[in-house]
Amino acid sequence: MKLSDLTTLRVGGDAADVLEPASPDELLAAVRETWATGDEWLLLGGGSNVVVSDEGFDGTVIRVMTRGIERLDPETAAVRPSAYLGDRTVRLRVQAGEPWDALVDHTVRNGWAGIEALSGIPGSSGAAPIQNIGAYGQELGSSLVAIEFLDYLSGEIERIPAAALGLGYRTSLLKQGRQGLVVSIELELLDGAADGPALSSPIAYEQLATSLGVRIGDRVPLDDLRATVIALRSSKGMLLDPNNQDSFSAGSFFTNPIVSENFARRLPAAAPRWPTSPEERPVAVPLGQTPAVPTVAGEYQVKLSAAWLIEKAGIFRGFSLPGSHAAVSSRHTLALVNTGGATADEILQLARYVQTRVFAEFGVRLQPEPVLIGLAL
Ligand SMILES: Cc1cc2nc3c(=O)[nH]c(=O)nc-3n(C[C@H](O)[C@H](O)[C@H](O)COP(=O)(O)OP(=O)(O)OC[C@H]3O[C@@H](n4cnc5c(N)ncnc54)[C@H](O)[C@@H]3O)c2cc1C
Repeated sequence: MKLSDLTTLRVGGDAADVLEPASPDELLAAVRETWATGDEWLLLGGGSNVVVSDEGFDGTVIRVMTRGIERLDPETAAVRPSAYLGDRTVRLRVQAGEPWDALVDHTVRNGWAGIEALSGIPGSSGAAPIQNIGAYGQELGSSLVAIEFLDYLSGEIERIPAAALGLGYRTSLLKQGRQGLVVSIELELLDGAADGPALSSPIAYEQLATSLGVRIGDRVPLDDLRATVIALRSSKGMLLDPNNQDSFSAGSFFTNPIVSENFARRLPAAAPRWPTSPEERPVAVPLGQTPAVPTVAGEYQVKLSAAWLIEKAGIFRGFSLPGSHAAVSSRHTLALVNTGGATADEILQLARYVQTRVFAEFGVRLQPEPVLIGLAL
C-alpha cells in the first residue's frame, strides 16, 4: 500500500505491510507481535503530521483504528476549584484511533468545555499528545489528565500523568523519542451546561475574539466558538477538504522559533514576538501592586512568528520552485502543500529553500513541525 494514500500531504512510497487493528485487543496484539519480529514499525493515525520518504517504509505500518469515547464519572463529577463558579468536571477516556475532531464535536454537543478551540484539527486522538496539539489559544495539555501507554522498552502498559509527558509548544517526550503506543487518552473538561447555554473556556486568541466580536477572556456559547474556529480554519486552508488543494498539507510545516530575548532584540522592530517563560508562570502579587518586571537580559525566551520571518525573507503565499509540484499554501504561509503529484523530495527541497532564506535574512533556523520518516531536513 502506498503511504501517499495514508497521509494528508499525499507523499510517501510503499509500506512493506500495513495492519489496521480496530479493537483495543487487536491493537495491542498487532503492536506486540510486530515488536516481537524485530522489524521496523511505524504507528500511524490520520497521517496528518508526517512526511514519508519517496522510498516508502520497509517495515510494518500499524494504522490505529480503535474508536470510542467513554465517560468515566457520570455520577461523581466533582466541583473543581476553578474560576468559574458552578462548573463541574467531566472525565473522558478516548481510544487512540478516535478521530480528534469527532471527539471535539461530541464534547461541544454535550456542553463540555476545554478543547473547543482545537476544532477542525485533523488526525487521531492518540496522536494529539505527541505534539501537544494546539490552536487558537488552547492546547491539549490543559485538558489532558493522563495517557494509557504501551511502552516499547518494557512491553508494559502504563498510565502516564500529563505532567510526566514533558508537554510543551508542539512537543512532548513522545515526540522527542520515548517509543511506544498511546492506547487511549484521558481528558478532564468543564461541564458548563448546568444552567443556561454551555460556555467555552475564556478566549485567549485575539483573532478568535475579534471574529466573535468579544474580548480576550470572554466566554461564548461553545457551538459559536466551534463554528467560528472552523470558519477561520477553512479560510486558511487548514481544514482537511478533498476539494481544496491548500489542505493537502501536514498543517504548519514549521514551528514558531523560540529564541533568547537578547537574540529577539536584534530583529527588526516590526517582528512579532511573544514572551514565553518565565512570564507564563503564575505569580502572586499583593493587591494594589503591579508585578515587578525582571530586567536581567537573556532571562526570557521569546517566541517569534515563523510566518512573518518567511514572508519578510521574500517568500510569499503560493510560492513554488521552478518545475516543482510543492508550494507554499496560497492561504497560509506556514503550510507547504502538494499541488498534485508532488514527491517528498520536492516538499523537502522547498522546505530547505525556505529554511535557507530565513536563515540568511534573520539568522534563525526554522524547525519542521511534522515527523519526518526516512527523511532529514
Ligand atoms: C490541514 C491541517 C491542519 C492542522 N492543524 C493543526 C493545528 O492547528 N494544531 C496542531 O497542533 N496540529 C495541526 N495539524 C497537525 C496534525 O493534524 C496533528 O499533529 C495531529 O495530532 C496528528 O494526528 P494524526 O493521527 O494524523 O498523526 P499521524 O500523522 O498519523 O502521526 C503523527 C506522529 O504520531 C505518532 N502516532 C500516531 N498515533 C500514535 C499512537 N496511537 N501512539 C503513539 N504514537 C502515535 C506517529 O508515529 C507519528 O510520529 C494539522 C494538520 C493538517 C493536515
